[in-house]
Amino acid sequence: MSDKPIMVTSPLLPPLEEFIPYLEDIWKKKRLTNNGEYHQRLEKALCEYLDVLHLSLFTNGTLPLITALQSLRITGEVITTPYSFVATTHALWWNGIKPVFVDVDPLTGNIDPDKIEAAITTKTSAILPVHVYGNPCDVGKVMKIADTYGLKVIYDAAHAFGVQINGRSILEYGDMSTLSFHATKVYNTIEGGALICHSAEDKQRIDHLKNFGFVDEITVVAPGINSKMDEIRAAYGLLNLKKVDDAIASRQGTARRYREGLRDVPGIRYIDEIEHVRHNYSYFPIFVDSNEYGISRDDLYSRLKEKNIYGRRYFYPLISTFSPYRSLESAAPDKLPMANKLADSVICLPMSAGLSDEDVERVIEGVKR
Ligand SMILES: *Cc1c(COP(=O)(O)O)cnc(C)c1O
Repeated sequence: MSDKPIMVTSPLLPPLEEFIPYLEDIWKKKRLTNNGEYHQRLEKALCEYLDVLHLSLFTNGTLPLITALQSLRITGEVITTPYSFVATTHALWWNGIKPVFVDVDPLTGNIDPDKIEAAITTKTSAILPVHVYGNPCDVGKVMKIADTYGLKVIYDAAHAFGVQINGRSILEYGDMSTLSFHATKVYNTIEGGALICHSAEDKQRIDHLKNFGFVDEITVVAPGINSKMDEIRAAYGLLNLKKVDDAIASRQGTARRYREGLRDVPGIRYIDEIEHVRHNYSYFPIFVDSNEYGISRDDLYSRLKEKNIYGRRYFYPLISTFSPYRSLESAAPDKLPMANKLADSVICLPMSAGLSDEDVERVIEGVKR
């Protein structure tokens, strides 16, 4: 059996021969950034692909989270999830907001909507959930709570590029949603991201905030930051967008084979396909029950590594255990039993568009024994 490394992810790259003419054009026009032609074209193309009306490009997927909170003037406390990438909570810190962690649904890892109400105080101004692994949160329940208590909702949709529920973009829910186009994501612009909102006024404010707060040459209306995407990555993004449907189809095939291959392995659980959802197959997490499986998650992780198969313990450790947050009352492990259980049992198996059938078989065999 081949022993070549199987990495947890491998970036989707546009064809080099198509990228070079774009670069030549940029060199000729000498317009490198600040809402240039390629930036405008990519915003338009993404609005069409994602079926949304207002999208603003960013230089990564963290700054749209920070800017969304600033733009909506969120203060005080925000209810969020510890089961995410650390950037979700850092975005609150950068706005001087206190994160309030609530536990997650044990099946999906998404925020448990039934735990949100108990965490609301007079200082709560918003909810910041994450569509973990691209599986949609219970957007209906979250919306109902937000409406009842007058809270804003910002979805971290970094994993949910192209995801739809009942034919509707997941990005339509909440006041705003953010995307990451980091190299490890389903769709990438190397580094990059976007903020999706629902009105032209919001989009305009966001565009000011991502450019230092400049409204015109001599007017600054807010302490904005610089988070603009440049022309080169916008051009790269235009080309990669043409490849993303094929990439998702290939990932779907891998997910199907993983599910078939691992169906009857005692102590290994995975998340089933969700009805009425157009998924993007961004990750394939498995959850190891060490009693039933026979060895611990960490032992399986190491054994796979010895076979040159690189999984990732994602999300582990929980955000609530990191030093900036662990002294928060809501970070206490006994208040987050489900999140702790998932973090201690998860391994994301290799998942990317380039995986061969042989690679996928090797991963399945590696987990089975
Ligand atoms: C990747 C990711 C981010 C941050 O995106 P960057 O583009 O790396 O800044 C935020 N939240 C989640 C859930 C992510 O997975």
